[in-house]
Amino acid sequence: MELTHIEHIGIAVKNLEQAIKYYEDVLGLKCYAIEEVKDQKVKTAFFQIGKTKLELLESTDPKGPVGQFIEKKGEGIHHLAFAVQNIEQALEEAEDKGLRLIDQNPRKGAEGLDIAFLHPKSTFGVLTEFCENKSEEG
Ligand code: ZN
Repeated sequence: MELTHIEHIGIAVKNLEQAIKYYEDVLGLKCYAIEEVKDQKVKTAFFQIGKTKLELLESTDPKGPVGQFIEKKGEGIHHLAFAVQNIEQALEEAEDKGLRLIDQNPRKGAEGLDIAFLHPKSTFGVLTEFCENKSEEG
């Protein structure tokens, strides 16, 4: 598989508005998009730093993945997302090498990216996401 860069870092927060204020007022970044991903039961806010983004995640449902994460571990870094050249191939390779996949097949994430998660049990504790921006190719 070929990873090109860190696409984004996902950060679980309890309150999106308050967290955005910190990133904007203290760190001087600009939130350029807020998007709800119904599938994941989250509201997301995006910031760009160079080629990498920060994705703040506020749960819209306490039973959703981010709601449960915050309940167990509190706020903080939730996942690491790598941009890959070919997401289907990367997933296949990960599976061939014995990793546990959360998503057998890519699905649509925020910003129209094709995304898939690897289970943190087989990635040394880091919930790992692969992203492919198919719209970028054409
Ligand atoms: Zn993500």
